[in-house]
Amino acid sequence: MYKQAICDAESRGLAVILLGDYTLGYIENKRNSRDIMKKIALYPGTFDPITHGHVNIIQRGLSLFDEIIVAVSVSAGKNPLFPLKERIDIVQQVFSHSPRIQVISFSGLLVDLMHEQNIKIILRGIRGSSDLEYEFQLANMNQAMKPDIETVFLKAAPQYANVSSSIVREIIKMGKERSLGDLSLFVPEAVIDAFQQLEKS
Ligand code: ADP
Repeated sequence: MYKQAICDAESRGLAVILLGDYTLGYIENKRNSRDIMKKIALYPGTFDPITHGHVNIIQRGLSLFDEIIVAVSVSAGKNPLFPLKERIDIVQQVFSHSPRIQVISFSGLLVDLMHEQNIKIILRGIRGSSDLEYEFQLANMNQAMKPDIETVFLKAAPQYANVSSSIVREIIKMGKERSLGDLSLFVPEAVIDAFQQLEKS
């Protein structure tokens, strides 16, 4: 009986909720019209783990966008050192006082996530020529699949241009037995805490 109503609602981007036996309610499934007025960017990455370089991109992005959605990729193929839950928890902790930052996880195609979230801007960071080629290719392929998507690149801050999650992971793996060195030069404290918790468990 409700089938037609549900189809109609979904075609208008609304999610249907059942409010009791006979009543249907609707909630906005996608962003509401006020949100559409907002400039929202999606910052995707593996964040294995998040570094000061990523944090800097997000903070600077806040001067360009009203909101930033940090999308933590499952990236199962990359065999991450930090499990997805920890990667998300860490980002949430780092930005716990920033109401304009949201953290979500995703797997699958970025363009599909953009479509689901009704977001048109991808934010990425570029540390130098080694990032440039890959990022360019990625942006072009995303734009080929969804021409209305734009990628905005922010140049890495000079003090973080050599900071990478992969080197942080190397330091963690090599330093496990002895010392983690001064990892706080490269990553927020929440990363070090999370790693120590993982070691204990
Ligand atoms: P991915 O697995 O998609 O490469 P990363 O988590 O490694 O994800 O990086 C996410 C984004 O952040 C990428 O655009 C990457 O170039 C950028 N990035 C990584 N490290 C830094 C840094 N130190 N400064 C600025 N941008 C960075």
